[in-house]
Amino acid sequence: MIIAERKPFAEIKAALEPYEKILIVGCGTCVAVCLAGGEKEVGLLASQIKLARGQNGKPVKVGEITVERQCDREFMQPLSDAVADYEIVLSTACGAGVQFLAAMPEMKPVIPALNTTFIGVNEEAGFYTERCRACHNCYLGTTGGICPVTMCPKGLLNGPCGGNLKGKCEVNPDNDCAWCAIYERLDRQGRLDLIDPILPLHPHARTTTPGAIIHPAYKRRYGGHE
Ligand code: SF4
Ligand code: SF4
Repeated sequence: MIIAERKPFAEIKAALEPYEKILIVGCGTCVAVCLAGGEKEVGLLASQIKLARGQNGKPVKVGEITVERQCDREFMQPLSDAVADYEIVLSTACGAGVQFLAAMPEMKPVIPALNTTFIGVNEEAGFYTERCRACHNCYLGTTGGICPVTMCPKGLLNGPCGGNLKGKCEVNPDNDCAWCAIYERLDRQGRLDLIDPILPLHPHARTTTPGAIIHPAYKRRYGGHE
């Protein structure tokens, strides 16, 4: 899932300074799971904004609405009407959701309340770690399910680099060397032959942005955009 963190409140407060009618739009999926931008976090942020304005003696109207996903047109329609009474929209979605929201017809200016950080996993409540950099060419099938692009800070496809010490990474000795971990897992699985072939350079030409994917079943409908 996408992992994000809330921006410092001082930054949000400064961005909202010129406005008196603020609508906070939450997202009920990834950012809700990582406790950054779901319905509960929207409520907390609304209270914080009202409190801060109250202390400054400045009037404010703060609305709250949370949709299932801000990155999915299907769930965005109710927002067209919801924004009518507001001057500014504060989105607690990831960067993709903020952009989708900001591009809606009739939308008011949108500012982000979060910093989008990485694609990761929920290790435990409140503890998230990065696992994927969306490199467009997944290597996990031959690396024992450990991502060399993400877990090795040098992104080496043919490791280790030689700098590891007792299985720890030379860049950050708190972390295991990704390639030592790959070796150990493949060894345990009896699949060490997979580590022998030299992987070719990553096809960076495919990672130019922005990307677009059309599901095979929809090629006919969107064929012109491939
Ligand atoms: S190789 Fe790593 S970065 Fe690339 S798609 Fe797979 S998990 Fe993601
Ligand atoms: S020590 Fe291992 S994880 Fe660290 S940079 Fe070298 S190969 Fe990558």
